[in-house]
Amino acid sequence: MQLLFDGVKKFNNIDFLEHKLLFEKISRNQQPHTLFIGCSDSRVVPSLITKTLPGDLFVIRNIANLVPPYRISDDFLAATSAIEYAVKMLEIKTILVCGHSNCGGCNALFMAPEALSNVPNTQKWLQLAAPVKEKILAMNITNVAQREWMTEQLNVVEQLNHLLTYPYIASLYSAGSIDILGWYYLIETGEVYNYDKTKKGFVKIE
Ligand SMILES: [Zn+2]
Repeated sequence: MQLLFDGVKKFNNIDFLEHKLLFEKISRNQQPHTLFIGCSDSRVVPSLITKTLPGDLFVIRNIANLVPPYRISDDFLAATSAIEYAVKMLEIKTILVCGHSNCGGCNALFMAPEALSNVPNTQKWLQLAAPVKEKILAMNITNVAQREWMTEQLNVVEQLNHLLTYPYIASLYSAGSIDILGWYYLIETGEVYNYDKTKKGFVKIE
């Protein structure tokens, strides 16, 4: 725990000073250009892999970078309300869904239900990726590693489709007023692949 407190001191003495003017500039107002939807995984660090600064990214993180389909509800909708706020109030210009290698959430799709019995909310949450699991099973992939990255990549594409169930996103997208991107981040190499909608595949960013 002490390392967290030491971290604040280092932040105050080094990083904050380095970006002092920026922090002053953004102190009363944020104008992020991008809504970044990523996995909660500790190894995925949105500002690091995009080399962005405070104020640039509005971030939603959850298990397996999932986008719940559009609905209005009396429930407390964390991801859905953050999407709404980012698009309607902050008027972000780009929505980016970023999946990653070795995703525990994606792997859990193929676990026996008993293995997840002590995390019932996680199990429920992952139902949002059920269509991904169905499509992957239909492919009959025998190689586990291949199934893993196929699942992680297909999951990103599925979430891009979920974004278009939001009427206000669909209309902005069809008017060309908002970009929607799907990325796949490889933890062990640092490589990031961008989904090419025409080629229907991921292409390395370089
Ligand atoms: Zn993950």
